[in-house]
Amino acid sequence: MRDSVRELTVDLGERTYPIVIGQGLLGSYDLAPFVQGQQVMIVTNETVAPLYLESARACFPGKQVDTVVLPDGEKYKDWQTLNRIFDGLLEKRHSRKTTLVALGGGVVGDMAGFAAASYQRGVPFIQMPTTLLSQVDSSVGGKTGINHPLGKNMIGAFHQPEVVLIDTDTLRTLPPREVSAGLAEVIKYGLIRDTDFLCWLEQEIASLVDLDPATLVEAIYRSCACKADVVALDERESGLRAILNLGHTFGHAIETFAGYGNWLHGEAVGTGMMMAADLSLRQGMIREQERTRAVRIIERANLPARAPAGMTPDDFRRLMAVDKKNVDGSLRLVLLRALGDAVVTDQVDVSQLDATLRAFCV
Ligand code: NAD
Ligand code: MG
Repeated sequence: MRDSVRELTVDLGERTYPIVIGQGLLGSYDLAPFVQGQQVMIVTNETVAPLYLESARACFPGKQVDTVVLPDGEKYKDWQTLNRIFDGLLEKRHSRKTTLVALGGGVVGDMAGFAAASYQRGVPFIQMPTTLLSQVDSSVGGKTGINHPLGKNMIGAFHQPEVVLIDTDTLRTLPPREVSAGLAEVIKYGLIRDTDFLCWLEQEIASLVDLDPATLVEAIYRSCACKADVVALDERESGLRAILNLGHTFGHAIETFAGYGNWLHGEAVGTGMMMAADLSLRQGMIREQERTRAVRIIERANLPARAPAGMTPDDFRRLMAVDKKNVDGSLRLVLLRALGDAVVTDQVDVSQLDATLRAFCV
């Protein structure tokens, strides 16, 4: 079934690569042309392997395909687990011409990508993201890495894939909370930069929650295109790219308060974007009707509309003070000038911020 395959080109000069998005691609799409040597190492985890490893293998006809199956979880995004990828590569005698394949969510993608960036000083890699979040976020930007006990994503490298293959059928086995978490990042693209996309999402959000394949293909395509635009305009992450963090300063505070894993990243970002819209209204940047539209679309993706139980404005203030976007101690936030137009600002009115925090802490 290939009725709606879409392809997007991420333009990076020599490192330009395609993102292929469609239904039923795993198992039928031939990726062998993207593999220069004879060897392929598929990196996945123990949750995804039983579901998709066999179909993933079938995308590399005529190649020597080996596999590394990692334990599942953000807590394994560390040196020790990364080393298991290198163990597998060396035990199976993979040369500098090998291609690494990441089959899984963002954790597997970041680790396999980092392994590819450093194995024998760098080998090609292919992404097969299987969560909505990794499909719309990790597919563009080239960030790879692992966590350090003292900080998330602190060790890593930029390494662009040869190709990204996104099969929307994989989302059928994803827990509904993970689908909603991915939708938060999808909605984010509409809110920060693409009013047309936001209007389209308002029409289609129910179909997305129901995982309608053609609607998913369109949403993923437009999300990746939006991120690619923003990244291309600001490769060095100096200005514009920061708008991709809409909702993330509030969101990180929520994730830290709740303890990583209790609230999913996307869930915290969903609530955080509602808070950003609320503060934008209080600061006179958007109108009531726009705030309502932003809150409503996030709610319809089944994302939480309140901070975690027991979290206070003081908790927010304490946890937001350490956000990495802050320059010289002053709070910087991504706010909305309109729906579809985000801006990074350090003009945060402290009393209005307090009002927003009180409104979401109940
Ligand atoms: P994840 O990789 O932990 O996946 C979530 C859960 O879903 C896991 O238990 C996983 O095993 C399971 N899973 C994956 N695919 C499945 C499927 N099709 N069916 C059933 N279960 C499935 O989490 P995530 O949300 O995909 O990614 C989060 C990670 O990605 C974080 O570590 C974050 O730092 C990173 N990230 C990286 C980038 C980037 O640009 N490189 C962007 C965003 C996030
Ligand atoms: Mg995010």
